[in-house]
Amino acid sequence: MRSDVELKVAGFNLGDFKRMAIEDETTGMVYEGYATKRPPASLSRMVMSPTPMMKAAVFKSQVATRLFRGWFGPLPYGRLSVTRQPSFGPGQSWPTLIHLPVSAFLDSTQRHSLIGNSEFMFSRFVQEVTPHEVAHQRWGHLVGWATYHDQWISEGFSDFSTGLFLQATGPRGKYIQFLRRSQEVILEKNPFGFRTNDVGPLWMGHRLITAKTASAYRKLIYPKGGFVLHMLRQLMFDAQKANDEPFIRMMHNFVNTHHNKDASTESFKASIEKHMKPWMDLAGTGKMDWFFGQWVYGTELPSYEFEYSLNAMEGGQAHLKGRISQEGVSDGFRMAVPVYMRLKDRLIRIGAGNMIGTDSPLDINMQLPWMPESVEINSLYDVLAEKVTIKRQ
Ligand SMILES: [Zn+2]
Repeated sequence: MRSDVELKVAGFNLGDFKRMAIEDETTGMVYEGYATKRPPASLSRMVMSPTPMMKAAVFKSQVATRLFRGWFGPLPYGRLSVTRQPSFGPGQSWPTLIHLPVSAFLDSTQRHSLIGNSEFMFSRFVQEVTPHEVAHQRWGHLVGWATYHDQWISEGFSDFSTGLFLQATGPRGKYIQFLRRSQEVILEKNPFGFRTNDVGPLWMGHRLITAKTASAYRKLIYPKGGFVLHMLRQLMFDAQKANDEPFIRMMHNFVNTHHNKDASTESFKASIEKHMKPWMDLAGTGKMDWFFGQWVYGTELPSYEFEYSLNAMEGGQAHLKGRISQEGVSDGFRMAVPVYMRLKDRLIRIGAGNMIGTDSPLDINMQLPWMPESVEINSLYDVLAEKVTIKRQ
């Protein structure tokens, strides 16, 4: 058998390997896992086998594939194999094959024995690397990117998909933590004093890298690319009835029209414009130029202030009076800022304020059917904002 010969040349024989396979009727996919029982040379001081988490990695890949199928449509490949590479760090994805870092095939005790207390930080990476690489089956492989300008569609969309995985698989709060951490990375300054977001527009891709901004590509294209898609999801949200349906329909259409083709920033914009809802037309042009100009071709970041009061009314209702102000942006900058009420630990979206420039604060005067614990804006990091201040009077 040819693979026998190859494996022996590599210093292994078949008995050194562990393999598993799952057939999944829901997705029509076969999921396979492969791992060596011996640790790689780089981890030779480890006495335990790097296989205990292979099953978990394969199941995780199955869950992610099922989830992303609902959001973006089916994959055409029919199978997905998961194996590990010797490196402790990043993963890699090819059509039908994912190389996870060896760290993803270890359990937390094994990782702790190797890297000590850094394990805590590293476990977050391990949780996210599998869904990220599964997402690349679609973003990067099924739908490619036209030029370096459009690579945020591959990395950013995979980052967004990882957020969906965390939201669906929990535990509660994981998704919000993920968004908060993405925002922190976008807003943090490097040792030379450059804030990631200000280095340049997302669209500049690899050209953001200079001697003084070496990590700008990694720190912008992934989290801000993901944030752009997250903001579109929140913008398309139909709070009246369909919830995420308009966004999901748009994304299915985007994948279908780019099946085995390369997507560009403009072809993605065209897909959104085909599915635009009236409440997304903030510039009144029927186009999404306003959104892409700000978030993909630009670097502006707004701040928001929300002041409000709540007064009890008869029958358990409440009267909400408030004002939202937008700051730190140019005159034409526009954004829809969702308003939420928190009721018995549930977050309920009650509307969105359309903000333009800095001179047009928005007054809110409305009755609520119940008295909430609080009213908030931007609770789900709906808008990538530099600062959000909420004051209750
Ligand atoms: Zn990636």
